[in-house]
Amino acid sequence: MTQPKPSCHELISSLSDFVNGELEAELCAKIESHIAECPNCRIVVDTLRKTITLYQQTSAQTEMPNEVRSRLFKRLELEDLLK
Ligand SMILES: [Zn+2]
Repeated sequence: MTQPKPSCHELISSLSDFVNGELEAELCAKIESHIAECPNCRIVVDTLRKTITLYQQTSAQTEMPNEVRSRLFKRLELEDLLK
């Protein structure tokens, strides 16, 4: 199976920037179209967004620390995608 689309790996490595609104528009569009077709990545994005929202409510920081990100990805069993 060959797909010209960006891989989950490629997208997931940019997801935290995406949900933080720090990603360039072109990449955002790629991710948007990918998650429209990929339930797994959609779950990851939803979860990241919720986590960030929760985090922002309990902290003055606006960015999710790497530690939280790693823990979240671990829980989602996406560790391999971070490598
Ligand atoms: Zn995907």
